[in-house]
Amino acid sequence: MSFHSMWAELLPIGRSSATGGYRRYAWTGADADCRAWFREQAATRGLTYEVDRNGNQWAWLGDPTAGNAVVTGSHLDSVPDGGAFDGPLGVVSSFAALDELRDRGAEFTRPLAVVNFGDEEGARFGLACVGSRLTAGALTPEQARTLTDADGVTLPQAMEAAGHDPDAIGADPERLARIGAFVELHVEQGRALDLTGDPVGVASAIWPHGRWRFDFRGEANHAGTTRLADRRDPMLPYAETVLAARKEAQLSGAVATFGKISVEPNGVNAVPSVVRGWLDSRAPGQHTLDAVVGGIEKAAREFADHHGVDLDVVRESFTPVVEFDHALRDELVRILGTDTDLTVPVLGTGAGHDAGILASRIPTAMLFVRNPTGVSHSPAESAAEDDCVAGVRALADVLEGLACR
Ligand SMILES: [Zn+2]
Repeated sequence: MSFHSMWAELLPIGRSSATGGYRRYAWTGADADCRAWFREQAATRGLTYEVDRNGNQWAWLGDPTAGNAVVTGSHLDSVPDGGAFDGPLGVVSSFAALDELRDRGAEFTRPLAVVNFGDEEGARFGLACVGSRLTAGALTPEQARTLTDADGVTLPQAMEAAGHDPDAIGADPERLARIGAFVELHVEQGRALDLTGDPVGVASAIWPHGRWRFDFRGEANHAGTTRLADRRDPMLPYAETVLAARKEAQLSGAVATFGKISVEPNGVNAVPSVVRGWLDSRAPGQHTLDAVVGGIEKAAREFADHHGVDLDVVRESFTPVVEFDHALRDELVRILGTDTDLTVPVLGTGAGHDAGILASRIPTAMLFVRNPTGVSHSPAESAAEDDCVAGVRALADVLEGLACR
């Protein structure tokens, strides 16, 4: 089955006719259809199919229990109104790469598996990478059982309704111990490859990132009768802080975004009493991130002082840098460089992935396929056909180099 026919089969599943975007949420009907597709791909190829205790799907070539396996794959679920490529490109490319290796007559010396990690986007239960987190022990079954969707359905209820035993969930160290390397191919969620002119790149690290809440507190008052000089308007230092964040990030090669705001009393004709802004910031390294967020906070305090407004800054979440395995990364660069004489670009990313969760447990690497606009988590997400083919070839080369020596 070719890349094209696999892609065409997946394309209509869970697509909203209203937006053209995908709504493939964990343990829903669309998810079940994607999973049925995966199972069929395994059967078509005579691969050993299994669902692990956390609902992740595996398709094995060779003995799953032999150890030192090479595993590739990604996820099939989506964000609300997501694009076609984020996740599925990695899974389809994995099966296509396996087909190419068989066509090449490759002799496998290690077991090989394609995996579909469940609930990567966290669109339904609000936590990303639930399948890989549970497997890695980064999420306990007790924590997972408290997850609830917008309709009040708990994760165990959703699993049970989809035919998966929720009592089975939990860390799976035996499974991870059998894996020698995990390689995830993913559409790039940025324009780094477009800017360098390369179809495929290798990931170096996932940037450290965090979320901070800025509470600016002033005084509510009448928008018509309060003299400008008498106001303590928290919107003003907030606005200046948004501009400062942009400048700090730009100077440091980081990103900083105020994408969410809440205003009290939120009236058209009232000077606000409170403006709450949420900052999301990510940077190539910890020092840079600390400097950027520190710079934004310092500027915000000066602006707040100037306007007679109080400011509290609270860090709500933080994820440290994830460095992918250096030896495996270098091996990928070496394998991919042999054919082309070109140096394959090695790039960091600001987006999270199952590979990032597993990186603390097993040697893990990622391949990125060029995204011409960089747009992701949107129906406009795309990759050129030639680049998808280049991605499959690169993945096949990598798997051959790792599993066929
Ligand atoms: Zn993804």
